[in-house]
Amino acid sequence: MGTAAKNLDGGGRKGSRGARLSLPVVVCGGAGFLGAHLCARLLDAGHRVICVDNFCTSDEEAIEHLVGRPGFELQRRDIASLGEEDFGPVSAIYNMACAASPVHYQRRPLETLLTSVRGMDNLLRIARRYQARIFQASTSEVYGHPTIHPQRESYWGHVNPVGPRSCYDEGKRCAETLCFIYEQQYGVPVRIARIFNTYGPGMRLADGRVVINFIVQALADEPLSVYGDGRQTRSFCYVDDLIDGILRMMQPGSEITGPINLGNPQEIEIAELARRIIRLTGTRSKVQTGALPVDDPPRRRPDISLAVEALGWQPRTDLDVGLERTIADVQVRLEKGEAGLVRELPTVGKRAVAGANAL
Ligand code: UDP
Repeated sequence: MGTAAKNLDGGGRKGSRGARLSLPVVVCGGAGFLGAHLCARLLDAGHRVICVDNFCTSDEEAIEHLVGRPGFELQRRDIASLGEEDFGPVSAIYNMACAASPVHYQRRPLETLLTSVRGMDNLLRIARRYQARIFQASTSEVYGHPTIHPQRESYWGHVNPVGPRSCYDEGKRCAETLCFIYEQQYGVPVRIARIFNTYGPGMRLADGRVVINFIVQALADEPLSVYGDGRQTRSFCYVDDLIDGILRMMQPGSEITGPINLGNPQEIEIAELARRIIRLTGTRSKVQTGALPVDDPPRRRPDISLAVEALGWQPRTDLDVGLERTIADVQVRLEKGEAGLVRELPTVGKRAVAGANAL
């Protein structure tokens, strides 16, 4: 975590520091991977934090280190069925709630879409009522199968509206639209970040996304499950860097609504990621290729010039350093007996995977 991070507040409202800190902030999806890191940082900054989660893709273990900390409150509820007065006055809302791993969000497509859309509408109503600053965790998935590379915020994207990923992609796109409507019609102070692939300690072992799958497989000396030929690319941002970016957007005085890309522009092929993890873990594992999921984006890299200019933000953690920390975390959790690896490919009816026969 960079030194600048320690000065970040993230409370969201102007006024004296004391007044800001007296009202709680709400972190929806606070028991998820990003949400739990965010809760910890907000508590460190002196905030009272209401952590809201329905635990559809998270476990209470993820926040057991936060329970009991002064100012931390857990509420088990679903953002898709929140009332306007459920929390009382709050100074800021962070919406991190939604399954983000393709394997998991495709298992519950309707819930994914409604969490993104209905949940966002509910949170925006609360923000409007209390004039709270509200952060929306949007995603690089709004760019879909990009025809522009790297992806800039001005690019409108290329999304299949009826494919297996659409519940997430279109849900997040619609949530951005909702944010803009509330900002323009009601003056709600909205902040939107398009978050690219993020990894780090604390990811669920059964998360199903590539970094955690490869690490768990490598530590078990099992083959690393590369989908497709491994030539597809992603750009992986270490979680602490990402949280710094989010807090900067929510700082009092930061007036940019966004959307702003937050991610690490260091792009890597998935097959190369597998080789790195094999090297860093010293495993005997080999790579095993499999079918490529339908609509899997072939490449993804953020253009972060807007974040650099508007927030003075850029990621600082080198991929190998971040992977080493993540591997160490996974090792400890495996030793404690935590289990769970998502082994199967995402499946949606008969359109399960593309290219299965070509392997
Ligand atoms: N992937 C893979 N093996 C895995 C999990 C994922 O090769 O065990 C690939 C996946 O097909 C995609 C990339 O890694 O091309 C990133 O997938 P992930 O599920 O982490 O997130 P996405 O960026 O697709 O949302």
